[in-house]
Amino acid sequence: MTINVLFAARPDRWDDYEAPLSAALADAGLDAHLATDLPPGEVDYIVYSPSGPVSDFRPFTRAKAVLNLWAGVETIIGNPTLTQPLCRMVDEGLTLGMAEWVAGHALRHHLGTDLDVRRAPGDWSPHIPPLAPERPVTVLGLGALGQAAARMLANIGFPVTGWSRTQKDIAGIRCLSGADGLDRALSNAQILVLLLPDTPATANILDARTLALLPRGAVILNPGRGTLIDDDALLLALDTGQVGHATLDVFRQEPLPGEHPYWHHPRVTVTPHIAAETRPRTASLTIAENIRRSEAGEPLLHLVDRKHGY
Ligand code: NAP
Repeated sequence: MTINVLFAARPDRWDDYEAPLSAALADAGLDAHLATDLPPGEVDYIVYSPSGPVSDFRPFTRAKAVLNLWAGVETIIGNPTLTQPLCRMVDEGLTLGMAEWVAGHALRHHLGTDLDVRRAPGDWSPHIPPLAPERPVTVLGLGALGQAAARMLANIGFPVTGWSRTQKDIAGIRCLSGADGLDRALSNAQILVLLLPDTPATANILDARTLALLPRGAVILNPGRGTLIDDDALLLALDTGQVGHATLDVFRQEPLPGEHPYWHHPRVTVTPHIAAETRPRTASLTIAENIRRSEAGEPLLHLVDRKHGY
């Protein structure tokens, strides 16, 4: 029987997804009908994005799973109409993109590139940075994205510490967990990368107390979520020099309001939530594989844990 797959993302994404998703479904051996408009009661799977048209899942009485195009699920997880299994996106293109963004900004701060490219005539003074093995980096969150970023940083030569809810064992990375592990992970982090999800347990994880644990002048990279940071505490830490620079890709309110102090702070770089994008070709493979698994009675990949919120 034909499997009906509803593409419920922003309409302009259809052009990007129609061909690769159709091909991935066919390659997975599925007889699937993919469309942007289907009678809700006949939909078997929903390819979903928070910016798409679906917010009430009740009419989708036959849907076996909601397959999110985004890695973050904070805007959908509390939706009381969503009773179907929810899968978040793990996509090798998204993952590599994030690792590249993190490595690029870590190297930028490590090398002092901003200083060097702003030189004016007469400013010929040498500025010799330490080498990567002398620059400890910490990554908070060792999921799909945090692990990839941590591995790329370690491959460059940084000593990398990672922190997660459950204890990990990753070759070449010092892995910590728990409250005590967080304090230890922060205490030598000259560069700190935030790749945690937005959940009640991670809200304001960087606050006045934890910012004070960092070595003076530490750099923060936040491609995770804006809610991870107490903004007032960070602004104070930037003003006092406790934090040397913050490169922020995500914010409590997006787009970041024009009057927000981050825009003009000399120690802040703002990027417009571009650290990593889901890539249609590779994301389509993840979606097709999950539908194949579901149809074969196998467990879904990347199933969201409703209790923990990610
Ligand atoms: P993931 O695979 O679910 O990994 C989340 C990681 O955070 C896991 O290691 C998890 O620990 C850890 N964690 C969760 N709650 C924790 C807690 N209370 N204490 C300590 N560790 C905790 O997620 P992902 O795919 O790596 O994505 C991470 C986040 O990146 C997303 O949620 C999203 O917010 C953000 N993101 C941003 C962009 C962008 O363009 N800026 C793009 C994509 C994603 P365990 O391993 O023990 O479960």
